[in-house]
Formats: sequence, C-alpha cells, structure tokens
Amino acid sequence: MNELTELKKVEQFADQCMKCGFCSFFCPVYQEERTETSVARGKNYLVRQVLKGNQEFTPELGEIIGKCLLCKRCVANCPAKTQIDRVVVAARAEMVKKKGLGFAKNFVFRKVMANKKTMGRYAKLFQRFQWLMPKTEGKVRHLPDFIKSMGRRNFPQLAKTFLSDQVKPVYKPEGTPKMKVGYFMGCATDFVYPELGLKFIDFLVKQGIEVVVPEDQNCCGAAVYFSGDFETGRMLADKNFKAFSDPSIDYIVTACGTCSSTLKDYQKYLPDTPDQKERYEAFGNKVKDSTEFIIDVLKIPPESFKLKKEFEGKTATWHDPCHLIRYQNIKDQPRAILKALKGLTYVEMPNADLCCGMGGSFSVYHYDLTKKIAKKKMDGIKSTNADIVVTVERTSMQAC
Ligand code: SF4
Ligand code: SF4
Repeated sequence: MNELTELKKVEQFADQCMKCGFCSFFCPVYQEERTETSVARGKNYLVRQVLKGNQEFTPELGEIIGKCLLCKRCVANCPAKTQIDRVVVAARAEMVKKKGLGFAKNFVFRKVMANKKTMGRYAKLFQRFQWLMPKTEGKVRHLPDFIKSMGRRNFPQLAKTFLSDQVKPVYKPEGTPKMKVGYFMGCATDFVYPELGLKFIDFLVKQGIEVVVPEDQNCCGAAVYFSGDFETGRMLADKNFKAFSDPSIDYIVTACGTCSSTLKDYQKYLPDTPDQKERYEAFGNKVKDSTEFIIDVLKIPPESFKLKKEFEGKTATWHDPCHLIRYQNIKDQPRAILKALKGLTYVEMPNADLCCGMGGSFSVYHYDLTKKIAKKKMDGIKSTNADIVVTVERTSMQAC
C-alpha cells in the first residue's frame, strides 16, 4: 500500500500556498505555456488533491509534475514561502514508488549512475563512438550546449583521459597545511573537464591546503533523486558520506554548482530517519562551492587574482545558474572576482538569474520548451555584446 510518506513530509509546504498567482510572473514554463498546471499554484493544488485522496497517480499527473525545471524562481518570489521544489520532488518520489521508473531511467539510474566506476566504464565506451555524434565547441558545461543547439542537439566532448584516472589520493602543500579539504569532482568535471579539476586542486594546494580526493566518491545524485528515485539517491548520498567521513576533513569543496547544491541539500530532500538526517546535515554543512570557498572561507581579496593574457581587453558577463543563486544564495562571490580582474570589462546581462532551460532530464523530455526558454537567455547574453559568458565551473579557474 502506498502510504504517501514522502508527500506527507512536505504537506505543510503545499498547504502554505494562498493561490495568489504571483509565481506565474516568474515561472519560465508558465511564461511559455500559459497553463495553470505549468505553474507552482496548479502543481500545489493537484498535490493537495492527491493528499486528500481525490487525485490518482495518472500518467497526466506524471506529465504535470515532470514539467518543472526545479529552477526555484517561484520559491524565491513566493510571498508565502511555499517550497514547491520539495513538493514536486516528493510527488515524483511517490510516482516512482507507485509506477516504477520505467526501463530507461531504471537502467541509467540504478545500473549506471549508482556506481561511479560503472559510469566511468560506460563513459569510456561512449568515448569510442562519440565521433558519430554532432560536435560542440562549448567547453562550459550545459549552457552553451543547449544555447548553441537551438536547431540540433549537441553532445559535450568527453575528455581523452578522465580526471579520476589522473588524480592522486592526497596532495600536500609545502609546510604545515592550514586546513584539509576533500575534493568532490562530480561527473562533468571527471569525464568532460578534467583540466578544471586539476587546476582547482593545484590552486588549493598553492593556498597551503592539503587536498584529499577519495577514490570511493560517487555521482552527487541530482538527476537521480530530482527524478524521484529516492532509493538510489539515498544510496549515493550514503556512499558519498562514507567516502568523505574522515573527521579531519575541514571542508568538502567542488567546482560544480549542481554538485555543491546537491550535496548540501541531501539533508533537505532525502532523510528518512533521524539518523540519516543527522548524517546528511553534518555532511552538507561542510560543503562549499568554489567561489564561496575562495571568497567567504579563504577570504582571498578578489583584487589579488590576475587575468590570463588571452582574456585581456575582453568583455565578460556572468550567468547565474539556478543551483548557485537560488539553491545556495551564491551571487556576489563570482561577480566580485570578475569585477576585480584588471584588463577585463564586466557587464551584467539582463535577467542574469533566468534559468537556462535545461533542468536535467527536463531537456530530454521537453526539448522544444528548453529551446524556447534558452532563447530568452541567449537574447539577454547577446544584448551585452560580451566576448565571454562565464558560469559556474570556470569562474575561479579563469581568474587564476
Ligand atoms: S506565489 Fe506562492 S502562494 Fe502565490 S500562488 Fe504561487 S506558490 Fe501559491
Ligand atoms: S521551479 Fe521553476 S519551473 Fe518549476 S514551477 Fe517553480 S518557477 Fe516553474
């Protein structure tokens, strides 16, 4: 029997909605579709009907709760502080409990992503056939991949040698380390941008920090548990908790905004027992994203960074990923670095916090919608005439 245990944990948030409709001004999906079921208010209403026993887990309901980017623009602007992200994710978890994952997600989440080493083996297999795929020149994670592929799909080039095949387990600085951090690499850095991971580690070591890179770390699990597979999500969270359980680790750092927000938020979305909650809280409280760590923890003056010669005289703009600005409130730190770089002109883009439209697997199932939302982002970028769009993973690296 389905007890709706996940939905009951978030019932209070669904009940908070006072139906004002303010979220409709901010929801990128509603702005394209103009249907009540696209927006937080409509989704909340349906979830409340499920909780009251008036609504079944039909394929139509699955489609509605699936059509959300989890961008949290509604949450950030809701006068009642309704946490629709938690309501939507819990509803997806109930849907998975009731209907299962389906063949493709079951295979990808439970057979591939559940184990990083297995994922690496599949990535290596894919690497051999990627010459068959349309190529992208975009090196900055998903934003350009989707913006550039307005008419066709692009695939990021996998690296020749993955980061996990290059890193050492421990990096020691000269002299006595001022602290010890665990480096969480994340799948994109591991398989697509290994040079970014190596540069970040090198940067940390030069700051006098001992860096450990646990071999047993896994995927953060964002795609998995945001799709409602809490079983695999909890397993990945527990594996990552164990991999970084050395009590002498002061911070867990990563240069991927999705990974940092996911690791911080295990405590919010996943706990099933008080013990799990306590563990996820202890783990999440140690996590820092790259620029947050550089500015807020290390307190490195932004003026001390030097611009690489190749960027001299260029104009740059910053795109706020949802996972940084609304999941972690990280907005000023990357801008502080960019604005302080001598030789670079910083220009703010209109609606810098607008979602890029990807939303993980959202773009797989709603690609046309993704393209329309990405077009708005692209229009904002174009209006700045910037030479470079900087976003999450490369910010600190290009400033070094
Ligand atoms: S803004 Fe908040 S309270 Fe108003 S309708 Fe949307 S979710 Fe409900
Ligand atoms: S999270 Fe984003 S896409 Fe989902 S309902 Fe809220 S504003 Fe719309």
